Amino acid sequence: MPPSAAMISTSGPPFGVASEIPSRADEVRLHSVLEGRACAVCGGPVHIRIAAWSARCDTCRSWASNLPVGGPELDTHTRITGLEPLRRENFRVILSELRSLRPLQDARILDVGSAYGWFLEEAAAAGAVAVGIEPDADIASHSTGDVRVGFFPDAIPASENFDIIAFNDVLEHLPDVPGAISICHEHLPTQGLLSINIPTADGIAFRVACVLARVGIYGPYQRLWQFGLPSPHLHYFSTKALVTLIEDRGFRVVKIRQLSSLKRQGLWQRVRMVDRPGPVHVLAFVGMYAAANLLDRPGLSDIVHIIAERTEAL
Ligand SMILES: [Zn+2]
Repeated sequence: MPPSAAMISTSGPPFGVASEIPSRADEVRLHSVLEGRACAVCGGPVHIRIAAWSARCDTCRSWASNLPVGGPELDTHTRITGLEPLRRENFRVILSELRSLRPLQDARILDVGSAYGWFLEEAAAAGAVAVGIEPDADIASHSTGDVRVGFFPDAIPASENFDIIAFNDVLEHLPDVPGAISICHEHLPTQGLLSINIPTADGIAFRVACVLARVGIYGPYQRLWQFGLPSPHLHYFSTKALVTLIEDRGFRVVKIRQLSSLKRQGLWQRVRMVDRPGPVHVLAFVGMYAAANLLDRPGLSDIVHIIAERTEAL
């Protein structure tokens, strides 16, 4: 898989248990690449924290990983049943937030990493003209409508503009987030909207996973980063750092809200998505089922939705 394959992915759940850990040789290799790298937000050096493949910027508290991209694809049926209910519900909330700022009727919306086309369908139902980009041709084949198979921004002609560009559970997988935001500026008119939903380091799940990892329980931490999955997370920004990153590139953030990060429907499929189910999956399922309603409360969800408006100047 080429390095650009890391540009876009929608794979995998942000919760669960992973069993693999890097070998000692892998740890040494990963450590040498990540330590001291420039933070994507503030440019300060990041320092290895918790695992050899994850690091934090002490200045802006953003996290980065250098987890490898690739590996076996997950079973399509399991992915769909595990993710679709939660994703569709959040997409309807996102579209309703966008509609509160701009009419969606005939609005041209680009969905970067459109996966199975759920957001495209919901956007079309809201009256928008939705265009998707999806690098995986098999996954894209599940979509109806205008889906370009390829990578962002290469799959979009330089002259093609949109009223809204959306990243749904995608930005955290991109190696060059500042570059992607700057490219959005070029494809939006003044007052065009950038819509980002993303898991952040502020959420309780990330913070609890960090605490557990520090006492030797690595499973939740690995799973939050989607360790061992085909397209792992490369970033966990704090909300504040993400706002800075966006506003430094010609946008003004106009709305921030939390979205549901856990839903009981489809939870078992999400928990057992990566490997064969065993006792640890049952325990994880029971814990998350019990916590599902709690994590939906304001201040506790890990997923934020940010809407930013393009300003004139960069
Ligand atoms: Zn930083």
